[in-house]
Amino acid sequence: MTKAYPGDLANSRAIHERARASLPGGNTRATVFMRPFPIYAERGEGCRVWDVDGVERIDCDNNFTALIHGHAHPAIVAAVAGQAARGLSFGMPTLSEVELAELLCERLPAVEQVRFTNSGTEAVMMALKAARAATGRSLIAKVEGAYHGAYDHAEVSLDPNPNAWGRLEAPESTAYAAGTPPSVLNDTLVLPFNNPAAAAALIARHGRDLAAILVDAMPNRAGLSPATPEFLAALRKGADDAGALVVLDEVITFRLGLGGAQGLHGLRPDLTTLGKIIGGGLPIGAVGGSVEAMSVFDPSLGKPALPHGGTFAANPMAMTAGLAAMRLLDGAAFEHLSALGDQLRAGLTAVFASAGLPARVNGAGSLLRVHFKAGAVVDYRSAYATPRDAAIAQAFHRGLINRGVLAGANGLMSLSTAMRPSDVEAVVAAAGETAREIVRLGEQVEADTL
Ligand code: PMP
Repeated sequence: MTKAYPGDLANSRAIHERARASLPGGNTRATVFMRPFPIYAERGEGCRVWDVDGVERIDCDNNFTALIHGHAHPAIVAAVAGQAARGLSFGMPTLSEVELAELLCERLPAVEQVRFTNSGTEAVMMALKAARAATGRSLIAKVEGAYHGAYDHAEVSLDPNPNAWGRLEAPESTAYAAGTPPSVLNDTLVLPFNNPAAAAALIARHGRDLAAILVDAMPNRAGLSPATPEFLAALRKGADDAGALVVLDEVITFRLGLGGAQGLHGLRPDLTTLGKIIGGGLPIGAVGGSVEAMSVFDPSLGKPALPHGGTFAANPMAMTAGLAAMRLLDGAAFEHLSALGDQLRAGLTAVFASAGLPARVNGAGSLLRVHFKAGAVVDYRSAYATPRDAAIAQAFHRGLINRGVLAGANGLMSLSTAMRPSDVEAVVAAAGETAREIVRLGEQVEADTL
């Protein structure tokens, strides 16, 4: 690698300077913000991306897990190009939405019908509104630290700090964004992850007000640790006892297998939210469930309980790209992804150990997340990054960038079917060099301050 970030990436720097005038902070998407400037993408092919300064990297970000086949897969490109030539969107439904809905219903037994949206945020919002419409109640339960997009109630307690998070058995509802109405905090019950007894007690106490329990079976921001069967069972039972709905957010975990996390756990949620990979790289979201749970959307019997439209919902570009991507994602593709994931988790764990850098590698299948922690990371609180952890995570992210690897700034990595074991080896080698550098610099800092 000849050009280093930030010093040598003059083109990215110049675009960012220009962006600062027309976009707040030069940014329109908080997740890609970097100081002093983000690296702008030029193009991608397979598991590689090139930035506007011509630097090539292995893509372990895959647009925050959305690109399960990497970039520019020929079958997806052909599907999208063909649809673009026939029309980008219409004020009419298209056959493509029926085809993608059928494929999803086939893979997810709990999903008999589907409603498409433009993002995972919207899918979660519509699922929570559907639960409210069905139950006539307003309280939403969600897991501390779990991310489900930007809908008000889904955002509660996304990033509490130790001074605000309260008791583990009964976490406080904390605001993520300034200006969050107190009514939103009051209408959101925060559950501790993987604590079935405490979650069951909270659900029982608030059961009569409860519309839905929103849960991700491997929540990224809460550490990317899998939910235990006992926790999921407690939520299912609590919801059944309360007459509330379980909303399983599979926006990321649909990466885990043909039947998603619900297939792996044998869980039957009332509503499932999907997004990211089902759009093949284009914007998408979906909410699905039983015919009964989805009947709130049905306009065929008069005004539905929950009217839902959207100019670009089920647009044929996203449907067509998603259909191509999902058809490529068969059992063999999942096996390939899991083997790569196992190789990367084992490789990273080994290089961190040999470098003497305390770290935990969480995740499953094609997903993993690195935490610079000595102890186990099992929930939001154990994943919580101290300033020192955050400094190491940033050094790791940047060390990878300058060794030809793109990962999420928070240590999240996701793999694509375009990757080969040799690509994973290259990522592990880059991580090993970076880990050794971090340890060396840490020793240097300590020596300098003695
Ligand atoms: N749910 C989960 C679990 C997510 O990870 C995300 C996005 N990272 C969302 C919902 C929101 O999806 P989108 O970014 O498409 O709005």
